[in-house]
Amino acid sequence: MPSAAPTHSLIIGSGIVGACCALELARAGHAVTLVDSGEPAGRQSASYGHGCWISPASVVPMSMPGLWKQIPGYLLNPHGPLVIRWRHFPRLLPWLLRFLRAGSSVARVEATARALDRLLHDSPERHAVLSREIGVPDLIRREGLLYAYPDRRAFEAESLSWHLRRMAGLRWCELDAGALAAREPDLDRRYTFGILAEDGAHCIDPAAYIAAIVAAARTHGAKIARATVREILRDGPRVRGVRTDTDVIACDRVVIAAGAWSKRLARSVGDRIPLESERGYHGVVAGDAGGPRHPVMPSDGKMANTPTAAGLRLSGQVELASLDAAPNWSRVDILLAHARGTYPALADAQQRPIDRWMGHRPSTPDGLPVIGRSSSSPDIFYAFGHGHVGFAAGPATGRMVAQHVAGLSEAPDIAVFSPRRFRLLA
Ligand SMILES: Cc1cc2nc3c(=O)[nH]c(=O)nc-3n(C[C@H](O)[C@H](O)[C@H](O)COP(=O)(O)OP(=O)(O)OC[C@H]3O[C@@H](n4cnc5c(N)ncnc54)[C@H](O)[C@@H]3O)c2cc1C
Repeated sequence: MPSAAPTHSLIIGSGIVGACCALELARAGHAVTLVDSGEPAGRQSASYGHGCWISPASVVPMSMPGLWKQIPGYLLNPHGPLVIRWRHFPRLLPWLLRFLRAGSSVARVEATARALDRLLHDSPERHAVLSREIGVPDLIRREGLLYAYPDRRAFEAESLSWHLRRMAGLRWCELDAGALAAREPDLDRRYTFGILAEDGAHCIDPAAYIAAIVAAARTHGAKIARATVREILRDGPRVRGVRTDTDVIACDRVVIAAGAWSKRLARSVGDRIPLESERGYHGVVAGDAGGPRHPVMPSDGKMANTPTAAGLRLSGQVELASLDAAPNWSRVDILLAHARGTYPALADAQQRPIDRWMGHRPSTPDGLPVIGRSSSSPDIFYAFGHGHVGFAAGPATGRMVAQHVAGLSEAPDIAVFSPRRFRLLA
């Protein structure tokens, strides 16, 4: 086993996960090099454009009992919240079958929720502390997260999701029509029932926040490199460095935190991980008049509406295609159309400047990230596959990874996130 002696850890990827790993390792006294082909949390990364929610309620996996019945609709309806592009269906089929299996019983989704809860239950507190430590406390807001429903019946129709959240210890309060309108005066009056998850938080500028995490890692000695890692170099099982498109960088540990691109890197060192991109979109509407005051998720839109420093960020959609397929910008129009129906005062949204973005959620079929050692080398560590919850789960993941990479005896048990779990189904 590796010891707690200082390492030189090279981290591939400076999205939220890689940035948090870098800061934790650098703070613990390890030499760190953080390598990314783009800017930290630049537009290429999922960490740039997500919904900004830091939500302990996100323990509910995407794959839930009964979902299989909706797959034909997802293939046929190009305007729904989840779309599978026909051309990619045959290649995606093995992933989809595992995905459906993960949600095939209540017991399975309860187990997934319990595992996600380990990364999410204190995520608002972790981000609040981190933002203070790195000097950007204003970027994390602890204002709660609101789920808006047409009526109580619509809320009760999601009873399994709320059962999982209750099981995870989530605290919430119910809002009637009056309380809902008082909190969100511009919300359409067809929403008459709300659930306020009081502990939830959000970030108003993820790119600036992650840049600040990376800057803090640098003050603890981390080196930041702009390059694409092509190959992990080893002598037998032991790592001696990486080859990038520009250079060879020596190191004795590698952390693969390359989001949706991690599959290729893991494959290159002998691990087949069923990781796919669940592509998502955002539209940021400039200006602050006419939208929500605080983050809202309207139940009929399955999207996050989040006030940010740049304007109202409307984010969501799940599109299963491939990493390289061209974006379908009409998906942002779907988000905008829904927002206009949610907030009547946003009627002119289409005329305002809109930033359109598409990004890749790094998603495993069982809804859990891959955190653990490669099967081929004690020096290669995986930290990817956080799907819909990676922004919230970044700090907890960074701490776990740093403890394990350093070989600390108090490192938490991470068997549930092991890359080896996929072998059982191979
Ligand atoms: C529309 C949308 C909404 C979302 N909403 C939320 C939300 O509200 N809350 C939440 O918690 N999560 C949310 N998520 C999920 C979250 O964004 C992701 O789980 C998280 O950002 C993943 O972070 P990461 O660091 O693993 O990957 P990324 O942020 O994608 O970073 C990976 C980095 O690796 C780099 N890289 C890849 N390959 C190489 C290589 N070979 N060499 C060098 N660098 C490389 C890339 O350039 C990239 O910068 C959302 C995602 C989407 C798409």
